[in-house]
Amino acid sequence: MMIALATAPMHAPACSTGNTISFVEKLVLTGLEAQTHSEGSVEAKSNTTDLAPAPMPDMSGVPKGVRPGLAWLYKNDHKPEKDDPYWAMARKQIAPIYDSGSWKNGSPLRLFGGDPKVKKIALTFDDGPAAGYTKRLLEALSSLNVKATFFVVGKMVRKNPDSLKAIVAAGHEIANHSFSHPTLSKLTPDEVLAEYQACTLIIKDTTGKTPRFCRPPGGRHTRDTYRMASSLGLETALWTCDPLDYAMIGQELLLHRLTVGLKPGAVMLLHNGAKDTLLVLRRFVEYARSKGYQFVTMSEMFPPMATKVAVKTNHK
Ligand SMILES: [Zn+2]
Repeated sequence: MMIALATAPMHAPACSTGNTISFVEKLVLTGLEAQTHSEGSVEAKSNTTDLAPAPMPDMSGVPKGVRPGLAWLYKNDHKPEKDDPYWAMARKQIAPIYDSGSWKNGSPLRLFGGDPKVKKIALTFDDGPAAGYTKRLLEALSSLNVKATFFVVGKMVRKNPDSLKAIVAAGHEIANHSFSHPTLSKLTPDEVLAEYQACTLIIKDTTGKTPRFCRPPGGRHTRDTYRMASSLGLETALWTCDPLDYAMIGQELLLHRLTVGLKPGAVMLLHNGAKDTLLVLRRFVEYARSKGYQFVTMSEMFPPMATKVAVKTNHK
């Protein structure tokens, strides 16, 4: 089996599984030697006092009963931008798929990680493009000679079209992260289809490129959202490691989580706009390369033929 299939866990055990501090991190926080880890931040020589948990987030506007670590889900949730011309165009294009119900025949497959025997790793950056930050991120990636994949939001492309063009010009891959960044699982099927299609349209208009992969905002999804993506020709791509870089956890803890999540076929979920990510990028890339890893884009991680094999196998 070349590809981690839909039955794989949402997160690799080696990586942080949420806002809570993992067992490994607890060891460090309690002052035990980092050398007890089988792999990870051993060589980062972290100062344990830097490994503080994330600060308490702003809970205003977040429904009662929601865990603090999940506050961002609600703060980053947006209503579909139905007034946007791309939304209207997308609605027309998806109408036959929605009206006929043919999206139900789409594949429920989603991808997590690549070949677990090959030392390749994919960096993915969600939520961009954003003018200033994207420029700095591109400079950093260029200086490291790393090609990455940007899961962009359609309305951000509308605001920063030149940033998207710069990402493509630098040789990185563009992927679809919806048009408005809503919670797809709360939308009706025609709205989900329009969200993905509107994002594809604005990417194509701006760069001439057609995205192959998509990722639901926040990873919030149902099997039906994978089928809908598939019916539009998109492959849903999740990740193996979510270090929560957007939560301002600090450079050392972020580096620690990334190194713990490093494994053959790893897909790292990072964010366009996370300051700590920019600051630890060089250290992480140099660490991974010292271990023999090669940085690749998502299309390089998942060759089309391998994905077809995975889809076929998944439907047994
Ligand atoms: Zn996002």
